[in-house]
Amino acid sequence: MVKEIQRDKNDIYGKPILGFFFKNQKFITTFKIILTAVFFYALYFGFVHQSKENTFTTALFWGIFWSFFMVLTLPTFGRIFCGICPHGFMGKYITKFGLKKKMPKWMQNRYIGIFLLVIGWWGVYYMFPGIYKTPFGTAMMFSVMTIVSFIVYFVYRDMSYCKYICPIGTLTRAYAKLSFTWLGTYKSACSECKTFDCATACPYNLKPFTFDKRNSMTDCTLCMECSTACEAVSFKFTKPSETLFKKFQVLPAEIWTFVLILGSIPIAMAFHHGIGRSNAANDMIWAKTAHFFESFINFGSIDTIGLFAFLYALVFSVMAATIGMFIAAKILNKDFKKIFYDLGYSYAPLFILGSLAHTLESFFTRGYDRIVEGFALGFGFGVIDIIPLAKHGDSWLMVFGILKWIAILWALLILYKRINLLKVSKSKKIFAYPFAASLIIFFLSVNVYRAYIIDTYGRAKTGHSMHTQKPLHTDINKKLHSDYKSMH
Ligand code: SF4
Ligand code: SF4
Repeated sequence: MVKEIQRDKNDIYGKPILGFFFKNQKFITTFKIILTAVFFYALYFGFVHQSKENTFTTALFWGIFWSFFMVLTLPTFGRIFCGICPHGFMGKYITKFGLKKKMPKWMQNRYIGIFLLVIGWWGVYYMFPGIYKTPFGTAMMFSVMTIVSFIVYFVYRDMSYCKYICPIGTLTRAYAKLSFTWLGTYKSACSECKTFDCATACPYNLKPFTFDKRNSMTDCTLCMECSTACEAVSFKFTKPSETLFKKFQVLPAEIWTFVLILGSIPIAMAFHHGIGRSNAANDMIWAKTAHFFESFINFGSIDTIGLFAFLYALVFSVMAATIGMFIAAKILNKDFKKIFYDLGYSYAPLFILGSLAHTLESFFTRGYDRIVEGFALGFGFGVIDIIPLAKHGDSWLMVFGILKWIAILWALLILYKRINLLKVSKSKKIFAYPFAASLIIFFLSVNVYRAYIIDTYGRAKTGHSMHTQKPLHTDINKKLHSDYKSMH
């Protein structure tokens, strides 16, 4: 154990304010306790006040946690979402008193979490829009996840829930590779170490002193336990996505996360909520397929256009990624899997930066006011009416649109760097590059096509909307005041 160390200039632990936020264990623990208390209070509030006038539960989970905080922090500071996650925080204690069994091999499958996220959340979301976004639906879903996580933490050791079952565990692990921070150790101090306190302190059974050598933080959630155990642990600023410019042991599930999340969120949204709101919506293949099946199958309350937009988006994304990489592998004379999993890391910026544009715009147009109103309601300040920070169509909001183009350029740069790591001739690399970039090109094409359709055909007066519009203040206020009185 090292008790004192001379920190490098780029070490966040050595910085006055950031060092306090990221290293002071009393502050971190107090923050996590408060957050966990608010988390459970919001669940309780969702069960007790099930009407949509309870904006607190939905504001906390859908306004702050997902996607605002996660999308904002993953490409910047890394996996700090997990670092403060109430499940992970409680899990650390539950697992200490638990049965500490080894998770069976069949459960040690990263695809469980991805499946739950893509099908259990996004698939259901497109079929039954808004089902999870009611206060009761939100409280129910997060309660189920909480109970499952507690059981898994109790039975299995090494925080296996986070590694294999959590629907966003693999996602956060994968996208955090874009960040400009790195948790490692001072090699000079570690070379003399005999006690390995950082590893002993890690609830995930990781070895932080190996991260630098492996160029991988593996399952590190930035819980910062190890940095309390030993001063040789560092948390440094690096170049954005620096880890992706070098070799490391790839995790196939991360590549599939990039592909499936890209299909489920930005591509399916562009189909269903972008093009789907234009006057050409009914000419699209997903709408035609939905109408075809509806002519002989009764889908009940399922949004069939949403369902087929989602399925087509997934299929097109998987095809663009795999066919392109297959051709690239042939040109490079390498095994398909090697090329797909090595070069697939270039997909990382597409979803997260593309979503950042949407997330920031939403925060200004309908997020900030709902969060403040929701918290005022949840903490007993009654019903207040906050004016959004911006209106849809405000020209300055277009500045966020640039993030999508940065995402594409960043993805192309990562691909360039990663293809250069391969030992093949330059001409083969040049020839293979556009094929390896096929998913990036597909993402670009969908964005261009969406803009073209809306410009050419215009927005439809009625369309499929994922967001309910905020009602007029005067009318809703009357209703909220009466509901609020009856809630208390
Ligand atoms: S992996 Fe999931 S449960 Fe674990 S800390 Fe991250 S978000 Fe929380
Ligand atoms: S390596 Fe350190 S920061 Fe990462 S999970 Fe383990 S204890 Fe937490």
